[in-house]
Formats: sequence, C-alpha cells, structure tokens
Amino acid sequence: MERRHIFNAGPSALPFEVLDKAQSELISYQQAGMSVMEFSHRSKEYKSIHTEAQNLLRELLEIPDEYEVLFLQGGASLQFSMVPMNFLGNKQVGNYVVTGSWSEKAYKEAQKIGAASIAASTKESNFDHIPDLSELRYSDNDAYLHLTSNNTIHGTQWRNFPANQNQTLIADMSSDILSRVIPVQNFSLIYAGAQKNLGPAGVTVVILKNDILERIPEGLPTMLDYKTHVQKKSLYNTPPAFAIYMLSLVLKWTKENGGIENFEAENKKKSTMLYETIDNSNGFYNGHAKKDSRSRMNVTFTLPTEELTQLFLEEATEEGFVGLKGHRSLGGCRASIYNAVPLDSVEALCEFMSQFHQKHN
Ligand code: PMP
Repeated sequence: MERRHIFNAGPSALPFEVLDKAQSELISYQQAGMSVMEFSHRSKEYKSIHTEAQNLLRELLEIPDEYEVLFLQGGASLQFSMVPMNFLGNKQVGNYVVTGSWSEKAYKEAQKIGAASIAASTKESNFDHIPDLSELRYSDNDAYLHLTSNNTIHGTQWRNFPANQNQTLIADMSSDILSRVIPVQNFSLIYAGAQKNLGPAGVTVVILKNDILERIPEGLPTMLDYKTHVQKKSLYNTPPAFAIYMLSLVLKWTKENGGIENFEAENKKKSTMLYETIDNSNGFYNGHAKKDSRSRMNVTFTLPTEELTQLFLEEATEEGFVGLKGHRSLGGCRASIYNAVPLDSVEALCEFMSQFHQKHN
C-alpha cells in the first residue's frame, strides 16, 4: 500500500508506525480480548493508558511538578472561552496578541466574557509577522497575556516568549507543541488541540500551573471549570479514550525517535529546505511570512497567478501530495510539516516545486 505525502494542516499526518501499532491492537489490546474503545474508562487498563500519556507528556516537555496535565474535549476553540471564564476577573483586562485568525478568535471570545484588549496586532500587514516583544502593550496587573505560538493559517511562529515573572502568560500551542523545546515555566497555561503534533482530533491537552487555580471564580458550570478536571484527573466524565490512546502512542514514538530535541532539529531541516526552494525561485514562489517570523510547521507561499496556483495544486494531487491548498482566508499554498511528516515527503515536495517552476518559468 502506497502512502501519500500528507501536508494537511490538521487533522494531519500521523506516524506510520503509530497507525500500524494501533491497527495491530485495534480488536484486542495487549491480549485483553477487547478493544481500547470497549474498555470502561474506570478500568485499570484504560487508567494505565491515561496515566502513561500524562507522564510521557511531562517527560517530553519537561513539565515541572507544580503543573497539571489535563485531557479535555471541545478542541482548542473551547479553550478560547474557558480561559477568560476561569481567569478574567472582574475589573481586570485580558490582553491578547493578535497574530492570526485563531488568536483573533480567542480575543473575540474573551470580549464576550469580560474586558479584553489587544496587546499588539499584525492584522494590518495581513498577519505576516510576529511583533517584537518591545511592541507589546499591556499591564502586569492585568489578568493575563495570551498569545498563539504558531499561526497555522498565516505561517508565522514566535521565536522568543515574554519572560516576566509577574505575569500570567497563556499560550495556544495547538500547531507547534512538541515541535521544539519550550520554556514551560514561563507559562501559566498552555493548551493545544491534538490533531497536529499530538495525535488525532478529539482530545485537547491543557498544561496549567497550580497557583492560578485559586483565581477561578465559584459557580462556573462544572465542565467549564478547570478545577473539576484537576480534581478528577481528567476523568470527571467519559474521556475520548481512543484519542488519548493514540496520543500515548504518538508520545512513545516521539520519545523513541530522540524526543523533542531531535524533532526540533528535523523541523529546522525540513522547513529550511522548503524556504530555500521558495527563496531560490527568483520570485516564482513567494513566501507569505517575513523571514524572521517564518513558521517551521506551516510554510505558506503563493505563485504568480491564480491559474498557476490551480495547476500547481492539480498536478501536486496527481503526484500524491495532499493538503497543499492554502487556508480559504489567505489563498495560495501551504505545506504543513508537522513532526510526523517525513523528510522524504519534504524532499519530494521541493523536487516537485523546482520542476513545476522550470516548466512554467
Ligand atoms: N488554534 C490554532 C493555532 C489552530 O491551528 C486551531 C485549529 N487549526 C485552533 C486553535 C482551533 O482548534 P480546534 O479545531 O481544536 O478547536
């Protein structure tokens, strides 16, 4: 069976080895005579999968002990609402760095719940860069500062994060968690939908520092209160057990393949190859992101005309490349090169891009 070159933005490529392992255990998990999907979520078999996934995340991301690791549902989108519901107190302001469509959505959600303010925005230049840390405008007394570490649609990524001890820093890391070493201790809360580097859709990882739990107001709906999930170890209600099982397999695969340091190096290599192909094309391919803000996960580019873009996408599909169409809000093309996208696929894409350029120059 031939696998395609999967460049989808999310849901996206999963490691072949993980799919293979899941297939071998689908009907009977470790001689249990039943599938992970058939276990009670209170069974010892399921609990060991659940705990192992949490422990592996702790180990890979070097999460300090004073942080909780939660598995929630509702996607990163529900976190846009839960963050302000839990942490945006009365008379406080939630500050948002608006660097793309997702951070704008997070900001708009917060406005429905309380006072939200824009610490910086790059909307005027069509979200083509990350603002310099010195451009951020916010007060340390405010509720929190929220940022999106990687902008999936526009293809930009933060290189350095604010590091102010007095501040509650919150980040949406949906599209670059596990792709590079991050200073977890700088953040009070990190969240990520799983369907990029972590596994299939259905589970959302939340990493939060214990000390912010005391800020949560009384009376929130049970499922929307982080304390519920901390107290019940993400087993208050039925968790998405199969998605968490897949997450545990992806985390094991990440560990077996050299951990985050190795993937960081690989992601640098893969993204450099693509950006070099773009930069060496005499303007035939044009990168959307400014060079110092370029994402190592989502490479966005355009071709000279709409006709050529369509032709590029058609020919790419025929050659076995999937998911290269840019997001509808930006147009052009996008190659998402998450951890599970092999170097071979990126090499093949660069080769295809060079050939297409030569043919249509
Ligand atoms: N934030 C970012 C950075 C994303 O890329 C996405 C989805 N692509 C979301 C949030 C929304 O995630 P979900 O679909 O899991 O709600």
